[in-house]
Amino acid sequence: MELLIDKTLKELREWAIKNNLERFRADQIYQWMFKKWEDDPAKMTNLSKELRTWLKENAKFHTLEKIDKVEAPDSVKYLFKTDDGYLVETVLIKEKDHWTLCVSTQIGCNVGCKFCATAKDGLIRNLTVGEIIDQLFWVQKDIKDLPKPWNKVRNIVFMGMGEPLANFNNLKKAVEILIDQKGIDISKRRLTISSSGILYQLRKMANDEVLRNVNLAISLNAPNQKIREEIMPITKTNPFNELWNLLVNYPLPEGRKITLEYVLIKDINDQIDHAKELAKLIKPHRKRFKVNLIPYNPSPILPYERPPQERIYAFQKVLLDNAIIATIRWSKGQDVFGACGQLRAKREIPLLNN
Ligand code: SF4
Repeated sequence: MELLIDKTLKELREWAIKNNLERFRADQIYQWMFKKWEDDPAKMTNLSKELRTWLKENAKFHTLEKIDKVEAPDSVKYLFKTDDGYLVETVLIKEKDHWTLCVSTQIGCNVGCKFCATAKDGLIRNLTVGEIIDQLFWVQKDIKDLPKPWNKVRNIVFMGMGEPLANFNNLKKAVEILIDQKGIDISKRRLTISSSGILYQLRKMANDEVLRNVNLAISLNAPNQKIREEIMPITKTNPFNELWNLLVNYPLPEGRKITLEYVLIKDINDQIDHAKELAKLIKPHRKRFKVNLIPYNPSPILPYERPPQERIYAFQKVLLDNAIIATIRWSKGQDVFGACGQLRAKREIPLLNN
């Protein structure tokens, strides 16, 4: 069975020709998949009956198995199983007037951030292009009959399990499929790659003609080397100053900003002095950055805590007083354990049941 959702239109046409189908059949199938989110050949009504039967026997539209869906008021967490038995989580987040989908790019992660539940098991493997696209495919299939605008994922953030830039080639091809106007057609402006800030990977992104046009978010999480190194040990080999220098000079598309994510952790990086230090750093470049403050969501397997609410607001105020855009992201995934760095926190449960 040939998987179709990991193909660009060009590849799908080549596959069609190789199988003695007319080229335009590939275009039709591509539209059924990526415009109508159809995964049942029997419903692809503009294909001949023979072709529909042939497709059923020779092609498949999913590589993940959907095994669970947990709904909370502002988010929905989907749990999928890969062909080789690993679990992948995807979170659909309800914003004011649209959905944002938080997509995973790896099983596990080897970046090793201390506050992150995903990091606990290290990296198991990269997700394939099909596994990245299938997260969206399943979710779209699930929501496509809802009234507008809730029938469509508008924004995608690569912020689930894993470091997206460590899976560079698969991420790049997935982005190419996502932005193709003949298919899914999501604007580059609505895609965000959230990275832990490994320098050589960021340089690679900056030099890549596809990925450099996608939004960049960096998990900064500290105003200096010492604190960042404590919670993000990659800072030892990716020094804070070099990262900052790279961000200040990053080739941003016009009118865009880099999002600096800052997970606020009680008594670690949440003091007023930390906010002042961060403000001092950003102020001269404030047109190119916005700050997203994320109050930490405690995990049962990690020792960190969320700061009290007053401290979170006081931290934000310091940034705002310096004319820096700073929003607080009261994580919507909290109820379903899908907040940043918490995906997979409860994964052992379904694994043990299997
Ligand atoms: S926070 Fe992100 S980069 Fe850091 S260990 Fe977790 S998944 Fe990896």
